Amino acid sequence: MSAAQDEDERARVVEILAPVAVDSTYSYLAPAAMRLSPGDSVTAPLGRREAYGVVWSIDGDSGPGGNLKTVSARLDRPPLSQQLRGFIDWLARYTLTPRGMALRLATRAAEEAGPEAPRMLYRATDNVPERLTPTRARVLKAAEGGVAFAKKALAEAAACSTGVIDALVDEGALEAIAGPAAPIAPPLDPLFAAPALEPAQQDAADALKASLSPRAFKPFLLEGVTGSGKTEVYFEAIARALEAGGQALVMMPEIALTTQFLERFAARFGEKPAEWHSGVGARKRARIWRGCATGDVRVVVGARSALFLPFSDLRLIVVDEEHEGAYKQDDGVSYHARDMAVVRARIEEATIVLASATPSIETRVNAMRGRYGYLRLDSRARARLMPTLEAIDMRKEGPPRGRWIAPRLALAVGETMARGEQALLFLNRRGYAPLTVCHTCGHRFRCEHCDAWLVEHRFRRALMCHHCGHIERRPNLCPECGSEDSLAACGPGVERLAEEAATLFPDARILVLSSDFPGGADRLRRELEEIAKGSFDIVIGTQLVAKGHNFPYLTLVGVIDADLGLGSGDPRAAERTFQLLNQVTGRAGRGDKPGRALIQTFHPSHPVIAALLSGDAEKFYEQEIAIRERAGLPPFGRLAALIVSAKDAATAEAHARALARAAHELPPSPRYRVAAPGAWPEQNEIALLGPAEAPIALIRGRYRFRLLAKGPRSADMQAFLRDMLAGGPKERGGVRVQVDVDPQNF
Ligand code: ADP
Ligand code: ZN
Ligand code: ZN
Repeated sequence: MSAAQDEDERARVVEILAPVAVDSTYSYLAPAAMRLSPGDSVTAPLGRREAYGVVWSIDGDSGPGGNLKTVSARLDRPPLSQQLRGFIDWLARYTLTPRGMALRLATRAAEEAGPEAPRMLYRATDNVPERLTPTRARVLKAAEGGVAFAKKALAEAAACSTGVIDALVDEGALEAIAGPAAPIAPPLDPLFAAPALEPAQQDAADALKASLSPRAFKPFLLEGVTGSGKTEVYFEAIARALEAGGQALVMMPEIALTTQFLERFAARFGEKPAEWHSGVGARKRARIWRGCATGDVRVVVGARSALFLPFSDLRLIVVDEEHEGAYKQDDGVSYHARDMAVVRARIEEATIVLASATPSIETRVNAMRGRYGYLRLDSRARARLMPTLEAIDMRKEGPPRGRWIAPRLALAVGETMARGEQALLFLNRRGYAPLTVCHTCGHRFRCEHCDAWLVEHRFRRALMCHHCGHIERRPNLCPECGSEDSLAACGPGVERLAEEAATLFPDARILVLSSDFPGGADRLRRELEEIAKGSFDIVIGTQLVAKGHNFPYLTLVGVIDADLGLGSGDPRAAERTFQLLNQVTGRAGRGDKPGRALIQTFHPSHPVIAALLSGDAEKFYEQEIAIRERAGLPPFGRLAALIVSAKDAATAEAHARALARAAHELPPSPRYRVAAPGAWPEQNEIALLGPAEAPIALIRGRYRFRLLAKGPRSADMQAFLRDMLAGGPKERGGVRVQVDVDPQNF
């Protein structure tokens, strides 16, 4: 036997990670001839089926004996880079997610699409169909001369449906041939239309460009009021990443935001970037996935999941609107995409830009303490002014009972319409009314599965639960006392506000924008375009309209209830309200005309409202950071929540108590210290709070109890959580424990 043969026949032991809910890898034998490397995709027998998996590491030559199964085949798929594998390991460890589940986030797109089908092209043959209608003749004329066309292009050229083409293929008058795949990503030109930047923009752009070479992990906060030209700044960084031959990822919190962005991007770079979110078809996603791995796809704009794409040379990540709550993913694997983007950038040795008009407290502190580069644009681009802000004190100048638009706001809306401009009325409440009450007996409608009131939706003629989606008909009689005509809607939602606006302005073109109207993302996109074109006089919307859009005709913003959300008791409420209101009011005056915002509030002197009105963000951040620091809340301390849920409250609570006991009985660890139950925690101790009913104690028929672990930055929170879960009771009897590291609602 020759040496080469010997080499080929020796099997090696490889560790394979499968995209299933398991943390550990499985060992397999792989023939040396298969030449597997870490990152390669394979199929291998797992239980009774053939499973897909990724080679995580290679252990070396197999010793004698052993009863390992053998890898079946190596798949023709670009390998997952060491960086991406490192990122998956890191994310899994940090969020206490089984590694296989984290891998799944990265490989799902490649797996779901199946093998790629060739793109078919059509051309005329010498055969003449039996029936030659004028339409058919047009098709054949267009497809003659030996040139082959894509089906859609041919149908368009002949002004017919694609069915006509199919019929002609069946009759042999057209033939279908497999064509080359269309390029997934047309080349981008970094110099296509570079704008002249203003001085502040230029400084920021220069700093970002300089950070891109030599290659290193460089985090930045790019802070600038809405309309200050942040996008143009990070476009320059993208251009530089492209010139360096690298890739860039732009993350956006909402899919609906991407449409305008794609257009702007194309205007700057000549072509659109690849788009990545749940609305993109499986086949296209598989091609983008592959394109990222081969380097053909250079820029991706996407939602959270784009973070797991197999980039071959990622140089730049931009997280736009980095403060957005939508970056927190809470079902399945629970992670914060902005934080994980920073981790990915570190592993890839890339530049990361967190852009926002109102950064999260976490990011702001990192920038202020020099951990991140801090780039600021302090005024709007092209000398546009920020909108003027005024409070309407609802205690003094509110509207009559049962109405929500104060006279001063109504007046301003009228004036705005008279000038041919647009007004936005913002109310962060879907539906018609948040609560329905019986005037006779006081009965209130609540969801039978959740700890929540049912919200009336008049367009749907139904009462709906915003937590579980439960829908029921609104009855005519009170279900408790049987009274007729006694049910009353309490409080406003956007639908009710629209009714009021229509009464006040019967001739206005009014649009209500809310996520629960039928038509989904497509309809929303169209409506946003119509607003931008000026097709509506009054737009009434929830936070959907608040975010990032450019509406050139919009000059007036009315905030109907600025206090909504401030009274929730959640320590992040102030930050969130400040960010949201800043964003909403920032919609005004982005075109050539100045903007104005009127803010209806019962508490004009509340620190958040006062900071908003004075435009003094600095003061707000100072106050808020001081509060967080005193309370040891993030980013000054670590937080993790454990939500224990079960079909009945007693089971859930007992399990949560047992977990807490287990935590307090843990043996001493060098990585953390746990405060004694009930004791005031020392500086370096983790305090375990609860169990207590979760903020929403019942969702979808499951009772929820929460344990909150709060500790110093020096404590190894993950080690503590792992030890506690390992020492606690098994999850049985339908009990579920969800771990949420860095919870956003607490
Ligand atoms: P932000 O992302 O900070 O909200 P944008 O980048 O969207 O701001 O810029 C706001 C508006 O100003 C956009 O219409 C943009 O095209 C325009 N703009 C920004 N910078 C410039 C510039 N240097 N020259 C001309 N127009 C600019
Ligand atoms: Zn009643
Ligand atoms: Zn419900």
